[in-house]
Amino acid sequence: MEEYELVIGLEVHVELLTESKMFCGCSTRFGASPNSQTCPVCAGFPGTLPVINKKAVELALKAAIALNCKISSYSRFARKHYFYPDLPKNYQISQYEEPLATEGGILVDSRNIRIKRLHLEEDAGKLIHPEDGNFSLVDLNRSSVPLIEIVTEPDIKSPSEAEKFLTNLKRVLEYLEVSDCNMEEGSLRCDANISVRRYGDKGFGVKEEIKNMNSFRAVRKALEYEGRRQIDCLKRGEMLRQGTRLWNDTLQITEEMRKKEEAQDYRYFPEPDLPPLVFDNRMIKEISSQVGELPLQRKERFIKGYLLSEYDADVLTSKKDIADYFERCVEKAGRPKIVANWIMGDLTALLKSTKTDIRNSPVTPEYLVQIISMIEQGNITGVVAKIVLQECFNTGMPPEKIVSERGLSQIEDEEAINSVVKEVISESPDAVNDYKSGREQALSFLIGQTMRKTKGKVSPNIVKNKLLEYLNK
Ligand code: ADP
Ligand code: MG
Ligand code: ZN
Repeated sequence: MEEYELVIGLEVHVELLTESKMFCGCSTRFGASPNSQTCPVCAGFPGTLPVINKKAVELALKAAIALNCKISSYSRFARKHYFYPDLPKNYQISQYEEPLATEGGILVDSRNIRIKRLHLEEDAGKLIHPEDGNFSLVDLNRSSVPLIEIVTEPDIKSPSEAEKFLTNLKRVLEYLEVSDCNMEEGSLRCDANISVRRYGDKGFGVKEEIKNMNSFRAVRKALEYEGRRQIDCLKRGEMLRQGTRLWNDTLQITEEMRKKEEAQDYRYFPEPDLPPLVFDNRMIKEISSQVGELPLQRKERFIKGYLLSEYDADVLTSKKDIADYFERCVEKAGRPKIVANWIMGDLTALLKSTKTDIRNSPVTPEYLVQIISMIEQGNITGVVAKIVLQECFNTGMPPEKIVSERGLSQIEDEEAINSVVKEVISESPDAVNDYKSGREQALSFLIGQTMRKTKGKVSPNIVKNKLLEYLNK
């Protein structure tokens, strides 16, 4: 973008996959009826005391380790004060000066985007504004759901790099089962900070923080719009003032929400009701050992070990379940490229159209391997294999049984093939003449007719050779 460059930093909130809330025993299940998952602690009653959820701390540590952060041997919770109807205590328990972890990073196209801090906190409740009525409702089911906040350094240089950062981050957190990262349900939310400066400038420009984006694509769009807007302002000689803006997804623009002077002072102070978090090396080692192979490492291994293309490896490692499925197939069948094609092609289409998770696929890895080996052994043709896959997906029946019960085995009997080919030739004099007068396409038509008559049970290559034999007689 001409003489200006963009400077971007992200703040990402992620709900942790715990059964219960951050400081009480209430369920975190999404979608329950309003205020059915609350208690005096998460509803902010005076006199109640919070108790730290151990699982939440472990998940936060797991994320911090996977993101290459330095774990603080001592960290503390702090109260962040503000007044809002969805925050019953009028403060949020967060971490401030002594966060759980610092100085991490994520690789985006081999560039390290530094993570400044990762800390634990609790979510707020939710306000509902009914369209018919001049009142609002509050649902405290989300109040005190465990969150981690991940804050990057302003290392990101473009909107698409921000989008990739988020994609990679999401993959890591999903892999570790730290969060389901479901953006529609608000499990992952992102605020984006952006400023612009002249190339070569050392200092930073004045930043705006953008909120209210509900997809990674919206983050990219908002940053593209906002970068452009700031550059245009500077070019007109205007001064920028720091503030917060909201993304309007309908109009595809950012709109001013407030200027910095209007921002609250949170009056942070250490939470007196909770002990500090103190970790020893043994505990950190223990959790590190649970982290295991991360998506980027797995992708590299797929490229090197299975000789897959970068693209195939990327798709197959985009979700842990897909990568696991793939490897279970390859363990039995070998043939990584063929397995990859089946998974990424026909199987993915069936899963998508029925909104099925690959983990629950009726076509298990064992069944897909059966189909692939039946093709390899010449039991069925590629055309029939697709039918068998579909049938197996619909019924959950073993592919071998489908083939034998429905008589789908490949026809190899020469006599049988000869008689079909003869039939097709005698029924299609026009196509035969076309072919003989040099129109090659006529051959495809004749192959198609033969395949139809045999319901795809003959190898197209054999059909082609047989037809040519007759046509060239
Ligand atoms: P604040 O005190 O306003 O919250 P922080 O220093 O905590 O600012 O940073 C918040 C986020 O804003 C971080 O992700 C950081 O990388 C980013 N950020 C800070 N300064 C800039 C800037 N000048 N331009 C773009 N992003 C910035
Ligand atoms: Mg901040
Ligand atoms: Zn509760």
